[in-house]
Amino acid sequence: MSAATKLLENRWDDARAAAMSEPERLLYRSNLLGSDKRITNYGGGNTSAKVQQKDPLTGEDVTVLWVKGSGGDVGTMKLDGFATLYMDKLEQLRSIYRGVEQEDAMVGLLNHCTFDLNPRAASIDTSLHAYLPYRHVDHMHPDAVIAIAATKRSRELTREIYGDEIGWLGWRRPGFELGLELSRFAAEHPSAKGVVLESHGLFTWGDTAKDCYETTLRIINRAIEWFDGQLAGKAAFGGEARAPLAPDERRRIAARLMPEIRARIGQDERKIGHFDDSDAVLQFVGSKDLDALAALGTSCPDHFLRTKIRPLVLTFDGDVGAVVSGLDASIEAYREGYRAYYARCRHDNSPAIRDPNAVIYLVPGVGMMSFAKDKATARIAAEFYVNAINVMRGASGVDVYQGLDEQEAFDIEYWLLEEAKLQRMPKPKSLAGRVAFVTGGAGGIGRATAERLLREGACVVLADIDAGALDGAKAELSKSFGADQVRGVLVNVTDEAAVAKGFVDAVAEFGGLDILVSNAGIASASPIEDTTLEVWNRNIDILATGYFLVSREAFRLFRRQKLGGAVVFIASKNGLAASAGASAYCTAKAAEIHLARCLALEGADAGIRVNTVNPDAVLRGSKIWNGEWREQRAASSKIGEDQLEEHYRARSLLKRSVFPEDIAEAVYFLASDLSAKSTGNIVNVDAGNQISFTR
Ligand code: NAD
Repeated sequence: MSAATKLLENRWDDARAAAMSEPERLLYRSNLLGSDKRITNYGGGNTSAKVQQKDPLTGEDVTVLWVKGSGGDVGTMKLDGFATLYMDKLEQLRSIYRGVEQEDAMVGLLNHCTFDLNPRAASIDTSLHAYLPYRHVDHMHPDAVIAIAATKRSRELTREIYGDEIGWLGWRRPGFELGLELSRFAAEHPSAKGVVLESHGLFTWGDTAKDCYETTLRIINRAIEWFDGQLAGKAAFGGEARAPLAPDERRRIAARLMPEIRARIGQDERKIGHFDDSDAVLQFVGSKDLDALAALGTSCPDHFLRTKIRPLVLTFDGDVGAVVSGLDASIEAYREGYRAYYARCRHDNSPAIRDPNAVIYLVPGVGMMSFAKDKATARIAAEFYVNAINVMRGASGVDVYQGLDEQEAFDIEYWLLEEAKLQRMPKPKSLAGRVAFVTGGAGGIGRATAERLLREGACVVLADIDAGALDGAKAELSKSFGADQVRGVLVNVTDEAAVAKGFVDAVAEFGGLDILVSNAGIASASPIEDTTLEVWNRNIDILATGYFLVSREAFRLFRRQKLGGAVVFIASKNGLAASAGASAYCTAKAAEIHLARCLALEGADAGIRVNTVNPDAVLRGSKIWNGEWREQRAASSKIGEDQLEEHYRARSLLKRSVFPEDIAEAVYFLASDLSAKSTGNIVNVDAGNQISFTR
C-alpha cells in the first residue's frame, strides 16, 4: 500500500510439505502466514483444517477440526497451540443454539466437543471455521484487506476489486452467529473463495493446505496491487505538516518525555515504555490529517484491544519543555474522555472500568511511544498501531476511513469473555514493570544480579565497558528471558558524557528507570610504597567517581519520574575493614559506602532508597579473580591459587563459600519492595566475618 510495495512471496515448499501429516501441514501453513506481519498481526487471525482421525474410544474414523486455540499466535505457535474438536459434536451445537443472546454461552459448550482430551482451550472464533464447508480455512488480518474493510464503501470496493470471487459481510462481533452467517454465505456462493468482514479482516478457504495458502496470498496481493495503483502519486494523510527531526534528536526527546509520561500513568501500576520512530510512524505523526484520523480510532478489534480505541496526540512545535508543562492537562483530558466513553457505553453487567490512561502517545516530528505492563505488551501495542496506521493510509487514500462504531468497540473491550481471560492471567511478578540499570553487568556479580532481577520480571539494561563480554551476557540472558527484556549499553562509568548517553539509551528503550545497581569494578593490590598514582586514580575513578556519576544520573531521572527509586551499591568487605597491601581499593570502596549513606539522606524525600551490599571472596564467575588479584591474594595468604576458594570458606564464620547468586539475592531484596522501609543500610554477604560487622 505504500510506495513500491513488495508483493507477498509464495514460500510453500512441496518437498517439505509432502513429508508432513495433515496437522503438520496446517502448522507449516500457519507459521508461513504468520511470519509476515503484512499477512496478519501478532496474535491475530486463525487457521484450521478438518482432518480424518481415529477416535481413541471407538477406533472409528472421525472428522476432527484442528483450529488455533485461544490466545496463540499463528506465526510462532506449535502443534500444541491447536484445539481439536469432533466435527459431529460441533454440528450438534447448531441444534442447541437459540439465538444471538445465547452466543457467549456456546463458548462453554465447545469444551464438550474436545477430541483426544486436548487441554488447549478452543477460541471464540472456532465456529467461524467449523461451519464453513471447506477442509482448510484461513482467517487473517492483512493491513491491505482491513484497509478495504475500514472504508465507508467497503462493500462496493470489495466487489470492485474481487468481483464474485470474494464476498462481503457487514460488521458482526466474532462468535456463533458470525459462524452461521459465514456458513450461509458459503452455501449460497459455492464458487466464492472467501469473504471480507467489514471492519475486521479476511476469510479464505481451499480443499488442500497448499491451495488455501495460495488463495490467501493471492487475495492479499490483489489488494496490495490495487492500493498501489490507487495511491500512486497521492500524498498520504493529506501531506506533511511537520518534517521528522534528526534520529538522535528524536531519541533524546523520547528519553526526555517517556519518564514524564510514566510518572503520570505509572502511580498505580508501573509501566514499561517502547519508542518507535519508523518511517510509517513518522509519516503519520507528521501529517496534516493526524488529529482528525487519530480521533476516529482504530478499526480492527485486535487493534484497539491492544492500543485502546484512540491514541493521545501531544502537540509539539519544537519546545519539549512546553510538552512537559502541558502533560498533566493532556493526560487528564484523555482519562476524562475514556471515563465518559465507559459511562456512555456500559451495560448493567459490564466489568469495572480499567486503567483510563492512553497506551499510545504520538508526537509530531518525533514518533510514537507506547506503555504497557511489560515490554512485550508495549512493543506489540506499537506494532498494532503501525498496522492501524497502514490501514488508515490505505482507507483514507481511496475513500473515507471509518473506525469501529463506539458501542461495538466497547462491547468487545468489556466483553465478559475477554474479562474472564484477563482474570485468568497469572499474578504479575514482583518486579514486573520495573527497569534496572546494572553497571558491570557483563561481569560475574553483575550478570547474576541481572538474571535475578529478570527472573522477577524486571527489564534490565546491562552497562559495561567490555564490548565482547557485554554481547555475550546480553545474548545469553535474552535466550533465557526473551529479547524484549534485555538491553546492553557500552559505557565507561568514569566518562561523564558516556554515562549520560547510557541513561538516555536505557530510557529510550524502556521508558524510565526504577533500580540502579552500581557494581562495575576492578581490584588491585600493592603496598602503599609501590602504589602508583595511576593505580590510585584508577581505583578512585571507577569505584568512587564512577559510582557518583551513575548515581547522579539516576537521581536526576528518579526526581523527574516521581516514582521513587532503589539504588544498590556493590561495595566490599574491604570498604569496612582495613586490609594491608590494598589501600587504593579499600579507600575507594570505603568512599562508595559513605557515598551511599549520603545519598540515602538526600534521596529519602523523593522515595529514593540507597543501600549497599558488601561481598567478599566471590571467586566463581568473577573476572577480578582471574587476574593479578588472584595471584596477589594467594601470595599474601601464602597459599596456592587453587586453594583460595577453600581458604576463604574455612576463614568464614559460617564455613561456606559465597557465590555470585548469593550477592544477587541481597541485591534483589534491596531493589524490591520487600525492603521498602530500608535505606542507608549495609548487607554483608560474606559467610560471616567479624572484621566486617557493622557497628
Ligand atoms: P568482574 O570483573 O567479573 O565484573 C566487573 C565488571 O565491571 C566487568 O564486566 C568489567 O568489564 C566492568 N567494568 C570495569 N570497569 C568498568 C568501567 N570503567 N565502566 C564500566 N564497566 C566496567 O568482577 P565481580 O566480581 O563481578 O565484581 C563486581 C563488583 O563486586 C565490583 O565492584 C567488585 O569490586 C565487587 N566485589 C567483588 C568481590 C569478589 O570477590 N568478586 C568482593 C568484593 C567486592
